Amino acid sequence: MEIVNEIEPLREKISLWKKQGLKIGFVPTMGYLHEGHLSLVRESKKRCQVTVVSIFVNPKQFGPSEDYNLYPRDLERDRRLLEQEGVNLLYYPSVEAMYPEGYRTYVEVELLQDKLCGQSRPGHFRGVCTVVLKLFNLVQPDEAYFGWKDAQQVIIIKKMVEDLNLPVKVVPLPLVRDHDGLALSSRNTYLNPEERKAALVLKKSLDLAEKLILAGERDTGRIKEKIKELIQSEPLARIDYVEIVDLKTLESLEQLDREALVALAVFIGRTRLIDNLRVVSGGIEK
Ligand code: AMP
Repeated sequence: MEIVNEIEPLREKISLWKKQGLKIGFVPTMGYLHEGHLSLVRESKKRCQVTVVSIFVNPKQFGPSEDYNLYPRDLERDRRLLEQEGVNLLYYPSVEAMYPEGYRTYVEVELLQDKLCGQSRPGHFRGVCTVVLKLFNLVQPDEAYFGWKDAQQVIIIKKMVEDLNLPVKVVPLPLVRDHDGLALSSRNTYLNPEERKAALVLKKSLDLAEKLILAGERDTGRIKEKIKELIQSEPLARIDYVEIVDLKTLESLEQLDREALVALAVFIGRTRLIDNLRVVSGGIEK
């Protein structure tokens, strides 16, 4: 596996692969990799001749009082994991390479960026879209893989790709959970053992929502109430939001009468965790 830090050698490598007509798969990440990330890498390996992974903790998607400096980093471990998966190239740029002095250009996906996580993390999706578009321009992938763990991110990136006519296919893949149901996240490392147990309340509340929906409940107000009650019964948990929204527009729904996203953001101690389930025509996915 080649590790590239600079833009020029990356462009050279990509242009060589393009000339050879190879299909390029791309997995953008912030590193500190886990099985969720690796599931995306494996799908890329299956579907493409060349797989590129990026690791970049993007300062532009963190708010001023968020965890940019604290965010876990372990390049050596990540490198080993990606090597084992047979990744062809790891792009690991510096902040200066991505945002040189005087950087001025940003991408915004109106309306969608202000819903759900956008409310408590203003500017977050502007940072995400900007870095993802830059990475798409550099890597020029045929396909890019994103996890449903970050459902709003999937929906926004798809919209950006559609609106800007980007020549890349966005492939969303299932959320990967730990053995006890907790959604895998690099931020889980912030949890102490007591908090780690308390964090299970997110998945439990989604299980409850699933049960209600499968039993025929369609009133989103009642479903949200039950979810909130369960989360509030956990002393270490503090709700940021519990929402049920249209899966495409992210508009709030009163009735579950179309494809929908049940989305949660919950603080466990000082750590903000997210989780979700999707109600789609084939059933429930979580
Ligand atoms: P991150 O490093 O958190 O920016 O995530 C990089 C990519 O991995 C994003 O597309 C995430 O949605 C995806 N991802 C993170 N956690 C999971 C998970 N538990 N299951 C599936 N995909 C995930």
